[in-house]
Order: sequence, then C-alpha cells, then structure tokens
Amino acid sequence: MAAPVAFSSSKDITHYIGGAQAEATAGRNQPVYNPATGAVARQLQLGSAADVDKAVAVAKAAFPAWADAPPLRRARVMFKFLELLNQHKDALAAMITAEHGKVFTDAQGEVARGIDIVEFACGANQLLKGDYTEQVSTGMDNWTMRQPLGVVAGITPFNFPFMVPMWMAPLAIVTGNAFILKPSERDPSPSLFIADLFKQAGLPDGVFNVVQGDKVVVDALLHHPDVRALSFVGSTPIAQYIYQTGAANGKRVQALGGAKNHMVVMPDADIEQAVDGLIGAAYGSAGERCMAISVAVLVGDVADKIIAKLAERAKALKIKNGMELDAEMGPIVSREARDRIENYIAVGVEEGATLVVDGRGHQVTGFEGGFFTGGTLFDHVTPAMRIYKEEIFGPVLVCVRAKDFAEAVQLVNDHEYGNGVACYTSDGNVAREFARRIQVGMVGINVPIPVPMAWHGFGGWKKSLFGDMHAYGEEGVRFYTKQKSVMQRWSSSIAKGAEFVMPTSK
Ligand code: NAD
Repeated sequence: MAAPVAFSSSKDITHYIGGAQAEATAGRNQPVYNPATGAVARQLQLGSAADVDKAVAVAKAAFPAWADAPPLRRARVMFKFLELLNQHKDALAAMITAEHGKVFTDAQGEVARGIDIVEFACGANQLLKGDYTEQVSTGMDNWTMRQPLGVVAGITPFNFPFMVPMWMAPLAIVTGNAFILKPSERDPSPSLFIADLFKQAGLPDGVFNVVQGDKVVVDALLHHPDVRALSFVGSTPIAQYIYQTGAANGKRVQALGGAKNHMVVMPDADIEQAVDGLIGAAYGSAGERCMAISVAVLVGDVADKIIAKLAERAKALKIKNGMELDAEMGPIVSREARDRIENYIAVGVEEGATLVVDGRGHQVTGFEGGFFTGGTLFDHVTPAMRIYKEEIFGPVLVCVRAKDFAEAVQLVNDHEYGNGVACYTSDGNVAREFARRIQVGMVGINVPIPVPMAWHGFGGWKKSLFGDMHAYGEEGVRFYTKQKSVMQRWSSSIAKGAEFVMPTSK
C-alpha cells in the first residue's frame, strides 16, 4: 500500500452558507491542532447568533423547492455524492487523522462506515414509500405519506468528524429537509470538504450548510424558531441539555450521549479471541469511541487466564503518529483530554485499584510535543470507584471480576450508561439470554464493537440516548419526516345528509 498523502492547509476554517464559504462575523477564533505534533495547524472562525440567523434564513429559502423535488431526483444527487466520496475517501481519511489523531487505517474505516449510510440514503424512494389501504369504508381509501420537517440541524462530536455527520445529513437531505451542520471545534475541516462534495454532486445551494463554533452557535440553533429538529451526538451532560432545551422550544430532538461499555468474558469463551477483542476495542482510536470497551467483566476464573495476556499486549501497542501505516494507536485529540485521562489514572490509583499497566507520560520519538498517552490497564476495580462509574474516553481498560453470569448481567444493567456491550462465550444459550436480558441498546455476541449497519439504526439506552428515535436506519427516516394520513372519497360514493356520529366503516 502506498503511503497516504498527509492533509495540510494553512487557511482559516470558515462557515459554509448558501453554497459558498462564508466568514464568521464575530471575529472570534480558536486554534485547531495537529495532535501528533502538538502544533497549531489552522485557525477556526467561531460563529455567532447572527451567523446562525443567516444560515437558517438561507436554508429556509432553499427548503420549499428541495422538498418539492421528486425523491428520485434527490436520490440521484446522493448517488453522485457517493461516487465523489469514493473518489476522495483517502483524502478525507488523511484530513481526519491530521486533526483527530486516530491512525489513518482507522480513519479509512470511519469513512467507509459513513459511506454505508450514504448508500442507504440512496434508497430514498423505497424509504419514503407510504402505505395504502383500499376501501377502509365503502368508496373510501386511506394512505399515509411522510413529509420533510423543514430546516433541521446536526451538532456533532470530535471523535467521528465524518461518520457522525453522515448519520444525519444524508437522510435529512434525501427526505427533503435543508440541513445545518455544527461540527466539533477540534476537527472541523471534514465539514467543509463534505459541503464541497455536496455542491459538486449538484445539491442546490442552501440545502447543506455549515456553521462553525461552540456553545454560542448551539444555543442559537436551540432557540431559533425556524429550526424544526436537532440531532446531537456528544457527551451525556450536553446531550441532556440539548434534549431539554430543544424540547422546551418545541423541537424534535434526538441526543446521543456518552458511554461506559462492558465486555463480559465467560469462562467458556475462547480466551485468545477475547484478548484480541478487548485490546482492539479498548485501545483502538485511543479509546475515543463511544463504542469503545472500557470495562472488562471477567467471570469466574477468567481473570487468572487473561490479565497477564492483556498486560503484555497493552505494553506492546504500536503508538505512533497516525499517518504511519503500522500505527495501532495515535495521540489523544487535545492536551486537555490527555491530561484529563492521565488524571483519571491517578484517581484509580488513589481509589485502590491495581494499576497493571501505566500509560502516563508516554513519549513518541520525533513527536515529543504530541498529545500521546500509552495504553493503561487496571485490575481489581469495583463498581464504587469513579474509574468504573465515569466515562474516561481514553485508552484505559478497567477490569472487574464477577462470580457468575447473573452477577455480570446485573453489573451491566446497574450502570447508568447503556450504549454498547459485548459478551464473549461459546455457549449459545448464554449468548441468547445475554442478548435478551441486557439493558443496553447495542449488543455484540463475540463482537467487541457492535456498531449496527446503516439500515439497522444506532442508539443506546439509559443515559446514552435522550429522545425516542435512534440515529440512521428507518428510525432516522422517521426522525426527519412527519407522517401524514389522507382519507379520500369521491362524490358518487358520498352518502347524502350530515352525519353526527363518529364515522365508522360502512
Ligand atoms: P462534547 O459533548 O464536548 O461536544 C459535542 C458537541 O457539543 C460539539 O459540537 C461541541 O461544540 C458542543 N458543545 C460542547 N459543549 C457545549 C455546551 N456547553 N453547550 C452546547 N454545546 C456544546 O463531546 P466531544 O468531546 O466532542 O465528544 C466525545 C463525547 O461524545 C463522548 O462522551 C462520547 O461518548 C460521545 N459520543 C457519543 C456517541 C453516541 O453515539 N452515543 C458517538 C460519538 C461520541
């Protein structure tokens, strides 16, 4: 495989409104870093409420014609967008690595999973097909159709700067809405790349817009009367705030939050497979995935068989600049995030957990300024400890011990988060019972990171999701559309005289 070409640009990162880049009006800037070097790579222009007003007005003006376009025509734009994404997928992956830090091969995986959803959105005609009942009463038919909402917005986290916007924009757009993206401040460049590809694909100006920024922009979207729906993905406190504020302002909201995902390893599991599963899922993307495994629940005698193997593998992780093709783990996204993670390791030690592998202070030769930390492994962690209860969002795997299956299930079910979970076992009945009883939205049986495919939808339970509908899949189509029911009859079948009783089938 040829080495990928690294992304580099010194230009300011601006908004994208009405089919062109637009300067922010407030004059506030924030640096965007290359986490591998620790150097400032570009400046991000932060938006204001006035910028949001402008983007919403442009989107609102673009909406009627786009909503009126036949779904087939909207889908053809999506097919062209898909083709362009496939042409540029490695450039996009390099852009993700440059600002997020995740290794290039992992960024390629992120791009591929985002493209899956664009492929799903290409099926707009099928997805928007209503249902129809002939003869609900004599001479009368009833059908349902789904119509777009209007201007909708998406607020996305740093950890998937391409994939998470793709959970939202393709379905919102193909169902006939106009969309405003507010990307993360940490890695905003892919948002402008997406905007450019949509334009090249023939999307009318104003249907996809980007407003860069922070809480100021989010609050303006939350309070804007013309924003009909908000999709959010990020940490739980912000998700809860978005859900409550958006709902109080009469908006439809789906707000996906944080996680603390467990992997239960049963005594009958294939231990080598479980080690592979844990190492990849705990340390891949430096643990900065909402579906990362951060807790291993070791049942019966599993701890005695697995801890030494996990320790050996955690110490041997290839931690490098993400553009090196053999890198297994890159830097953390920011200095603050790296410090927060290393602080949690100190908390775990104070709480009395056994620190088996300590990743703090990890240095990468030639990248001394980068935001690196190593893989960390704790054993003898208990449910009362903060390192068990709280989301660390870094390469820290904590191991708890459970005496049997029932105790392991209880532990998972008692946790306040419920995003993803996995169970490694060779017993079909254990697997079946696990999937039935577990109080978590996405379950893997011998699958460490069970991110559902584009047509199944993504969402956690408990404090991992606020709102009723999961992201993408058919739930995504429902989120971005309103159902309308039509009953119809024609004059020759209309009985004479007013009816004063509740109409029934005749
Ligand atoms: P974050 O909550 O800090 O930021 C998410 C978005 O909210 C960003 O666009 C940010 O600008 C905005 N934001 C931040 N603070 C805000 C405030 N006070 N008011 C209004 N808006 C605000 O999350 P992050 O650090 O970017 O991403 C990591 C988090 O996202 C983790 O908790 C992770 O578990 C979660 N996540 C969840 C999922 C999921 O599907 N459940 C997927 C990816 C990431």
